Amino acid sequence: MLTGRTCGGKEWVPEFIISIDVGKCIGCGRCYKACGRSVLSLVEKPFDGDDEFGDDMGNKVMSIASREDCIGCGACGRACTKKCHSYAPAEG
Ligand code: SF4
Ligand code: SF4
Repeated sequence: MLTGRTCGGKEWVPEFIISIDVGKCIGCGRCYKACGRSVLSLVEKPFDGDDEFGDDMGNKVMSIASREDCIGCGACGRACTKKCHSYAPAEG
C-alpha cells in the first residue's frame, strides 16, 4: 500500500480518485476549484436528457482529465454535495 507522512511524521494512506458518477454530477465545478493538482475537467454531458434527480441542470459534467497527477487528498469529494467521487488507495 502506498503511504505518506504528515508534517508531524504520522503515516497516512492517500486515496486516489478512480471515478466520477456523471449520473449524479450537476456540473457545479466545486470539485474543480478544490483540486490543486488540475486533475479534473468539465466536459460535455455524455448522455441526453435528465440526470438521475430528474433535473437537466446543464450540459456539463466533471471528468478525470489527468489521474496521474492526483495526490489522493480527497478535497474534491469533500467539496461535492452530490457524493459523485470514488477513491481507492494505490499499491506501493
Ligand atoms: S483527491 Fe485531491 S488531487 Fe486528487 S483529484 Fe481530488 S482534489 Fe485533486
Ligand atoms: S462537485 Fe460534484 S456535482 Fe459539482 S461538478 Fe464536481 S462532481 Fe459534479
